[in-house]
Amino acid sequence: MNKILIETKKIKKDFDHKNGLIKIFKDASFTIKSGDLVALVGPSGSGKSTLIHLLALLDNPTSGTIILKGTDSKNLNEKEKSDIRKKKISIIFQDNNLLSDFTAIENVLMPLIIRGEKYNDSFNKAKKVLIDVKLSDRINHFPNELSGGEQQRVAIARALVAETDLILADEPTGNLDYKTSKEVFSYFLKLKKMNKAVIFATHNRELADQADYKLSILNGIIKRTYGRDKK
Ligand code: ADP
Ligand code: MG
Repeated sequence: MNKILIETKKIKKDFDHKNGLIKIFKDASFTIKSGDLVALVGPSGSGKSTLIHLLALLDNPTSGTIILKGTDSKNLNEKEKSDIRKKKISIIFQDNNLLSDFTAIENVLMPLIIRGEKYNDSFNKAKKVLIDVKLSDRINHFPNELSGGEQQRVAIARALVAETDLILADEPTGNLDYKTSKEVFSYFLKLKKMNKAVIFATHNRELADQADYKLSILNGIIKRTYGRDKK
């Protein structure tokens, strides 16, 4: 049986903005298990990015509880949260994922170096996953020498090499064409097979329907819904 990775209980999130209070979620209660491939859907402005930031422990809910691997995030200080992010969470954004002064392979081996692995071992692991994502002939390219799809594959290679339990992706295919989006999605399936949990925000209905289930945000409520073929 797959174990529970994230449990949220009645998360509420308001932003206290100078123009007034913005209420994002009233009640977000859900459970994510390892091996879950989850599409986070909802209209623009509904709070997808906000939820991803909360799950990445980059922001705190106004009230409610986020339990990550059995630990209530309220009991963690900033250093502990940062350590969890380094070891357990990979984050992929729509763009600007890569450090521009570092080559593709340096970007991929970065999480391993940060957590103290030896350079040569990290290099070899990074090279192997770059071959897996079909970038063997781009390993020494800088981000600005790569196409959007290639940059996204480098970001995914970094998540693959880091072997984190949780991969959070905020509209990772938002800037990609149909074929490249499908390729990126195929790596999410690979991560799922590795028993990782992947949560990806998307407006792409076809990809969302292929997830195990959707978390749909509407009017401050998050519901679990299923794609066309999965009941
Ligand atoms: P989505 O990713 O679904 O498009 P977001 O999570 O980015 O939506 O934003 C949800 C709402 O919260 C938006 O109306 C946005 O303007 C507002 N918002 C996001 N971050 C902040 C912030 N730091 N302060 C105030 N309002 C914010
Ligand atoms: Mg967003």
